Amino acid sequence: GVWTARVVTLFPEAFPGILGLSLTGRALAEGLWNLRTIPLRDFGTGRHRNVDDTPAGGGAGMVIRADVMDAALREARQGVPAPVLYMSPRGRPLTQARARALAEGPGVTLICGRFEGVDQRVLDAHAVEEVSIGDYVLTGGEIAAQVLIDATVRLIPRVLGNQDSLAEESFSIGNRGLLEAPQYTKPARWEGREIPEVLLSGHHAAIAAWRASEAERLTKERRPDLWRAYAEGHVDPAKDRQ
Ligand code: SAM
Repeated sequence: GVWTARVVTLFPEAFPGILGLSLTGRALAEGLWNLRTIPLRDFGTGRHRNVDDTPAGGGAGMVIRADVMDAALREARQGVPAPVLYMSPRGRPLTQARARALAEGPGVTLICGRFEGVDQRVLDAHAVEEVSIGDYVLTGGEIAAQVLIDATVRLIPRVLGNQDSLAEESFSIGNRGLLEAPQYTKPARWEGREIPEVLLSGHHAAIAAWRASEAERLTKERRPDLWRAYAEGHVDPAKDRQ
């Protein structure tokens, strides 16, 4: 079957959202990937379809109930071999290597949290892995889920019009897991600023060498963590960081 994202969420109306536009939107319309939302509210308890309750041990806010999330997950997982991930600031950081691995699989099932998060027992019961999009706290998991889906879907064959643009971008194997060199376009002179001469030379080897050294310079300067992984001689530093 086609690569499918399943999203358990209290806000199904947030999808496809921005994923419905541009490259990912066109690919969705063309059936290169699929999106299914599983509305958590449908599995709520009582007349008001409650999904949350107060935190055990006290404290502020509400926690999504294990039984409610379990019912939604059972529905989402039916006969689907895809990994189940909980978008969470406590998770391991999302990487390009993870997006590559997910793009090669059958799809992904994503849990979007709200409030203070989800009862730990249902995460344990389903052996759910937590994945973070960065060291900050969002209001809910929906935007994080869209980030993960976007990063992954563009790596599915034929989604990107020009597959070549994947080969040398930041974190790619072709770019040695480093940041990409600066980009320029016409005009050659803008407000007194020139395009680096080598890029206009037509000398392919010299251009490749300039880009490689700029990638190194930027990575050293901005991402000592990536630079260390590269310098330590990993074939694929991005993958090692997964
Ligand atoms: N109490 C949680 C904590 O301190 O770790 C934060 C809960 S947050 C207000 C609500 C939901 O937003 C989370 O359950 C998660 O799904 C999502 N979320 C927040 N920050 C995120 C991040 N950096 N990456 C992925 N998901 C995030």
